[in-house]
Amino acid sequence: MKKLYTAGLALFLLAGCGQVQNEDPQSTGDKTKDEQTDEVKDSVDKSTSDQNNEENNNLEEEPTVEQGETNTEEEMVVEKTPQYKVNEANWSIEPITDANEKVVLLTIDDAPDQHALQMATTLKELKAPAIFFVNGHFLDTPEEKEIVKKIHEMGFLIGNHTYSHSSLPDLTQEEQKEEILSINKIVEEVIGEKPKFFRAPFGQNTDFSKELVAQEGMILMNWTYGYDWEAKYQTKEALADIMVNTPYLNNGANLLMHDRSWTNEALSDIVNGLRKKGFEIVDPELIQTTI
Ligand SMILES: [Zn+2]
Repeated sequence: MKKLYTAGLALFLLAGCGQVQNEDPQSTGDKTKDEQTDEVKDSVDKSTSDQNNEENNNLEEEPTVEQGETNTEEEMVVEKTPQYKVNEANWSIEPITDANEKVVLLTIDDAPDQHALQMATTLKELKAPAIFFVNGHFLDTPEEKEIVKKIHEMGFLIGNHTYSHSSLPDLTQEEQKEEILSINKIVEEVIGEKPKFFRAPFGQNTDFSKELVAQEGMILMNWTYGYDWEAKYQTKEALADIMVNTPYLNNGANLLMHDRSWTNEALSDIVNGLRKKGFEIVDPELIQTTI
């Protein structure tokens, strides 16, 4: 079984949302990711590392003790101090402080279709934070908007997964702009704030979309691994098993799941299994953003 996994796994890394992009994902897949990353790396790296340095310096100079001693009321509205960042080379979550490195990030894409609210309820009961990446075509009725509002009120972050889940490289710049900005506007109307995180459908970005996402102050992320779009993992048992026992479960793994019935059913076993292996479910609000 292990060998089978290894042969097929790399494929899953890039094949989010049900689309396989490469015949040889191990090599070309990685290259694609690198290429995508390198293009923005120079500009982004500079600002990110500068921010990190500032962040670290601040932390060293001003221990959090001061906050605790002074004004607890103000602290309630102060944003959490970033402790992690998205590694743009492999989309994992890395500490920028001395925070626990044995963490995983949970993300639920293509929400809110049928199960997002139930999934949020399950995660809330387990005290497991997550990002729900939403699409505009799942947000065109008052009922759907109400669901996203509830999910947000339950403490989960709402991310931008574009309006209609189209492949961005197939669109004109104007269309890409519409796909990305229209859903930001809708989310802001519904929950009172714009998304801080962006994930392109199928993980397919363009230079234009990357630039626009940065301009909008969003952090772009793909994922480390996910399996729920593969037919053989579309049962509670199979999915819970592979999500916890995959060789790709490493520190900072960025887990891709979807609003699907089998994922909904497997969710508590996945969270419990990850925790049993010693992983903490990271709070996405602790991830550094430009907002
Ligand atoms: Zn998707």
